[in-house]
Amino acid sequence: MVRIAVMGASGRMGQMLVRLVEESDLAVLAAVVERAGHGWVGQDLGRAMGGVERGVIVRDDLDAALSEADAVIDFTAPQVSVALAERAAASGVAHVIGTTGFSDEDLAAIAEAGKTGRIVRAGNMSLGVNLLMGLTRQVASALGADYDIEIVEAHHRHKVDAPSGTALMLGEAAASGREVALADVADRGRHGITGARAAGAIGFHAIRGGDYIGEHDVIFAGEGERVVLRHVASDRALFARGALRAALWLQGQGPGEYSMLDVLGLGG
Ligand code: NAD
Repeated sequence: MVRIAVMGASGRMGQMLVRLVEESDLAVLAAVVERAGHGWVGQDLGRAMGGVERGVIVRDDLDAALSEADAVIDFTAPQVSVALAERAAASGVAHVIGTTGFSDEDLAAIAEAGKTGRIVRAGNMSLGVNLLMGLTRQVASALGADYDIEIVEAHHRHKVDAPSGTALMLGEAAASGREVALADVADRGRHGITGARAAGAIGFHAIRGGDYIGEHDVIFAGEGERVVLRHVASDRALFARGALRAALWLQGQGPGEYSMLDVLGLGG
């Protein structure tokens, strides 16, 4: 049984992960962590979740949690995940990062931790989205620059970063299909007198509202036709299942920063 620590246990993803790990035959919930000062710290997890006692106390002592775990699953916030990457690597604990919204500096720090630690980082843990990335790369390459690429995503009203990590991954896939760098062509959310669309741009647009779990369209708009690749997430458990699968997969790997494509065996 792989011993799992869940970071951010009270969060939308954290609560989903706790349930999933408890149901798993391959993993056991070793520790649950929340930020210092959070109302759940010191409480029984089951009680805090509004149910019966589970015998697992929510804590804020990360080092103690890591000392009892083989893997930590982390859907929190960028600065939390960057700090955790270093500590997990130092403790020899595999680290699954689902958090999104990282800066380039953050990503460099995580890559550094991946030199000694075992990390899976994915802005989207679902099989469908990872397949969609491959398709996006393929279609972008086949259709060429005559087809304008626009990526439209929709998420719930609580999401704090835009564009979504998944939208950026899809943008990277489209850019790689066209053999350009995303940073050179990305056009994020137009406003005002923008002028005509720049040739070769990859546009990003973010809808925020209600309880959308996550929807992504990659639109290839040509003269006389449009091709639209779409993914719709209808259950957040999808991401939790992917994250648990990644945590189990990492147990057999050497140091490195891996993607969900590696975990799913879909190639790098
Ligand atoms: P949320 O706000 O509901 O949960 C985040 C939790 O982290 C909160 O409970 C918060 O208290 C906790 N936290 C903050 N600082 C902490 C610390 N220092 N130690 C321990 N816990 C801490 O957010 P969410 O909707 O669960 O999403 C979290 C992240 O996961 C976001 O970046 C989101 O974009 C991302 N996400 C990724 C995927 C994916 O497939 N990769 C899917 C869904 C969400």
